Amino acid sequence: MHRPILALVVLAFATPTYAEDAKERLDDAFGAIEPKVIAWRRDFHQHPELSNREFRTAGKVAEHLQSLDLDSVETGIAHTGVVGTLKGAKPGPVIALRADMDALPVREQTGLPFASQAKGEYNGKEVDVMHACGHDTHVAILMGAAEILAKHREQLAGTVQFFFQPAEEGAPAGEEGGALLMIKEGVLDGADAPEAIFGLHAWPVPVGTINYRAGSFMAASDSLYITVRGRQTHGSAPWMGVDPIFVSSQIVAALQGIPSRQLDITKGPAVITIGSMHGGVRGNIIPDVVEMMGTIRTFDVGVREELHAKLKKTVSLVAEAGGAEATVTIDPYSPVTGNDPALLQRMMPTLQWAAGEDKVVEHPLITGAEDFAHFEQRIPGLYLMLGVNKEGVGRGQAASNHSPLFFANEDALIVGVRTMVGLALDYAESAADRSEPERRGPAARGFR
Ligand SMILES: [Zn+2]
Ligand SMILES: [Zn+2]
Repeated sequence: MHRPILALVVLAFATPTYAEDAKERLDDAFGAIEPKVIAWRRDFHQHPELSNREFRTAGKVAEHLQSLDLDSVETGIAHTGVVGTLKGAKPGPVIALRADMDALPVREQTGLPFASQAKGEYNGKEVDVMHACGHDTHVAILMGAAEILAKHREQLAGTVQFFFQPAEEGAPAGEEGGALLMIKEGVLDGADAPEAIFGLHAWPVPVGTINYRAGSFMAASDSLYITVRGRQTHGSAPWMGVDPIFVSSQIVAALQGIPSRQLDITKGPAVITIGSMHGGVRGNIIPDVVEMMGTIRTFDVGVREELHAKLKKTVSLVAEAGGAEATVTIDPYSPVTGNDPALLQRMMPTLQWAAGEDKVVEHPLITGAEDFAHFEQRIPGLYLMLGVNKEGVGRGQAASNHSPLFFANEDALIVGVRTMVGLALDYAESAADRSEPERRGPAARGFR
């Protein structure tokens, strides 16, 4: 699963690119598309929309795809999603390129001339809305890639599907959405189903770099809900009741002993965070109930399952020891997002062509999560981080995604377009040289 030494040896001997001549002929196309991609990105940035509400964005995407004379453009997928299909002039495999479209309830503070002043409704409240995760850049990049590929379909072997996905950040309460709903609606089924999928994300690392990690890359994420029931009594006489605040405090402390004392950390790290704890109304009343919410992050299927089991046992036994009762609900958001090692090795020359050889760099694990993982449960995929820092700014020195100060350097956009176009053109060509990624189970690919 993690074989950095082997990977380095293999990469050092990787040949340049498969469809090199074809891609060199596209230089003018990349030059011509760059200002359009920047303009689209600014428009989306100024008009961000929350998850499952990407109506304007999806409309612009569909309008653009329809203008390209694709083989088909389907709208309304998983609420607002758009899927375009482009058949190349030559026969070959079907692949998917994915961009997510939604923004976040964040008040923008970048001071950009095209900063968002948009409002939206989130969980019943009016909120400011910002593309604080950079999905505006993803949409613009994929629109640019679609235009170049459509205009050069004579060079394309096989079929490319453009997945413009809603609600990556999570659907509003009570709604379905995102990658999971697209899959449920059948985007990975049927005769024309893609056999591999590629996605990228704007990320605060040096501009223009493509960052990868073979195997597990981004964490599996699960939401955690714990209710502790005691028995209400006067704060002066705790022995007359059962104090759920005291018991909850012990649970919070005990949970931290699971990753550090009970899990095999050589299989990958784990995080348990309680981010919300509510109980009681005043200082001299011991309440009946405490409610806690948290998040769990893991990088390995086995560790994830073991952590869930140990967490339930710990919560239940600590509560029992204190005379309280606890219920635990674990709500899965996404499995691990990663890079299929064989596919990464096969496409590495393409990434080096797209960004420059010294700009394709290995990146540490990311404890953030991404619902692209659901696609990778079904088919092999690559998920890459595109550096969007200001010139000269290193990793860890810029505002993170979801910050009101998150900044995306537009110089990186064309690298994103080159990456998507290169992957589409080279995937089929590289199949002749390298073995097809098998439709193996996700566990066999080292992550899930
Ligand atoms: Zn995000
Ligand atoms: Zn994101």
